[in-house]
Amino acid sequence: MPNYDLRCNTCGTVKLDVLQPLHHTQEPCGAFCPGTYERVWLQGKSHHIVGDEIDVWVHNTLCHEDGSPRHFRSQKDLNKVAAEKGVENHVVHIGGKGSDKSPNTVRWDTLSPVKEDDRLKRWYEHEVELVQSSR
Ligand SMILES: [Zn+2]
Repeated sequence: MPNYDLRCNTCGTVKLDVLQPLHHTQEPCGAFCPGTYERVWLQGKSHHIVGDEIDVWVHNTLCHEDGSPRHFRSQKDLNKVAAEKGVENHVVHIGGKGSDKSPNTVRWDTLSPVKEDDRLKRWYEHEVELVQSSR
């Protein structure tokens, strides 16, 4: 399997030298970011140094105490706040009723028949449901 450099199309988080099969669907960035990692050619970037720069506004979970969105400029800062709040940035696969399939997650080794816009729309709707059910 070849190595790829990946960058989130929303928050800009970079992962270098990631082993992936040639045919690989885009993987989601994480629960705090609706973006997906895309393969990029980072010419001149020194490998084995993971980029820490991000530019993301978090509207829930890691937002300010008063509920206002919090701006993060580095992954390290975001991870620090996540650790303080005792939460972890990851995606959990939850199957639907009577099935292991979920409209919100896909196997990364298969191509999704769902159009990206539809997938993002469902993702946002799912996020809204999670926020509403946690109140
Ligand atoms: Zn992201």
